[in-house]
Amino acid sequence: MQFDELNLLKNIQHAIADEGYTNPTPIQEKSIPIILDGNDLVGCAQTGTGKTAAFAIPILNLLHRIVGSSSKTKHIRTLVVTPTRELAIQVAESFDTYGKYTNIRTLVIFGGVNQISQVDQLKKGVDILVATPGRLLDLNKQGFIDLNHLHHLVLDEADLMLDMGFINDVKKIIKLTPDNRQTLLFSATMPIAIRELADSFLTKPEYVSVAPISSTAEKVNQKVYFVDKENKRNLLYQIIEGEKLESVLVFVRTKHGADNVVKALKKQNINAEAIHGDKSQNARQRVLESFKRNETTVLVATDIAARGIDIEMLPYVINFDLPNIPETYVHRIGRTGRAGNSGMAISFCSRDEKTYWQDIEKLTRQKVKVVTDHPFQWSEVNPDAKPDLRNKKKPQGPKKKPESNSRKSEASKKNKKRWY
Ligand code: AMP
Repeated sequence: MQFDELNLLKNIQHAIADEGYTNPTPIQEKSIPIILDGNDLVGCAQTGTGKTAAFAIPILNLLHRIVGSSSKTKHIRTLVVTPTRELAIQVAESFDTYGKYTNIRTLVIFGGVNQISQVDQLKKGVDILVATPGRLLDLNKQGFIDLNHLHHLVLDEADLMLDMGFINDVKKIIKLTPDNRQTLLFSATMPIAIRELADSFLTKPEYVSVAPISSTAEKVNQKVYFVDKENKRNLLYQIIEGEKLESVLVFVRTKHGADNVVKALKKQNINAEAIHGDKSQNARQRVLESFKRNETTVLVATDIAARGIDIEMLPYVINFDLPNIPETYVHRIGRTGRAGNSGMAISFCSRDEKTYWQDIEKLTRQKVKVVTDHPFQWSEVNPDAKPDLRNKKKPQGPKKKPESNSRKSEASKKNKKRWY
């Protein structure tokens, strides 16, 4: 499905296109039509699934029809309650991003900071308020927040709110809102208390869920290489060339990194192309088509660029850089091994990515096979590996015979020889 099949207003579609999204994620595909129809919704989805846009986009669409271009006094029409300030900020940023071609105003409020500027903003009038529970109730008590004109209430990450002890605050907040509101509840898990909350405060909600993202990882054959950062390109070449891999999707963290990897592979006559946000839509499309026709062996992509493209069921995904968000790992490797096809996900982990890898294994609840028979591994993770002596002083001792010395330096030169 494409975004333009969702009947969204042109100015919102335009903002979505600016982000480089072409296809809605599964939670968006399921939720957007339900919300546009005015129904209550319970969405079971984790961070990383695109759940914020799943509610922000249709709400903006609905609000734009009410708020339009009128300069009438603003009332809070949408309230999003989140458990943490970080999430509140992210959610507000999403509303700003997708609503940038509307004149809908969003404000984010949270505790732990002075309330003065938040109150000033509230007095100017906002359409959408994103808030953490404590500060919201506090400012409401002081008379700065009026929820009587509310159309939409969103409870985001409801299970986390429960875990953090906000459930009573949430119930108080709901009681401040009109009964005829549209209520959307998103939660990564559905414990009994969340179901009860939904039963008591939502009206005939539709339930949508996307598979917990950590589960996809179980179906894919995964391997990890602990490799020094500067050797990643050597290792990549060795794997692709040595195992004669074709149709390989390589993930990198930055656009610049993508270009560098492509350059290095091309020097070795491997047909590689990059796909990232700096390329025009046409250029991206061309690269993608050539990859699909198997003319391009390796496609090097950033996460954002890869999200918008429909390449799935690939035989190989290589995480050249590990993502700092563990859910992204699951998304990446979910591109391979679908529908009974065997897939292989290979990850490179450098020393400074160690914590990312630990987070990934925690999320997927798996111990991934570590590949040790390669020349580029770093020693701390693999105690059996030879220590890395490159930066250490040479031991003092009798000089070696010239011929053994020269043999050694030949060997080490060979080892160090870069292919790019
Ligand atoms: P969320 O699950 O809301 O935290 O979103 C995770 C990330 O996915 C955010 O960085 C969004 O910008 C991005 N995203 C959301 N929807 C899409 C989409 N349809 N296509 C590509 N990226 C998206």
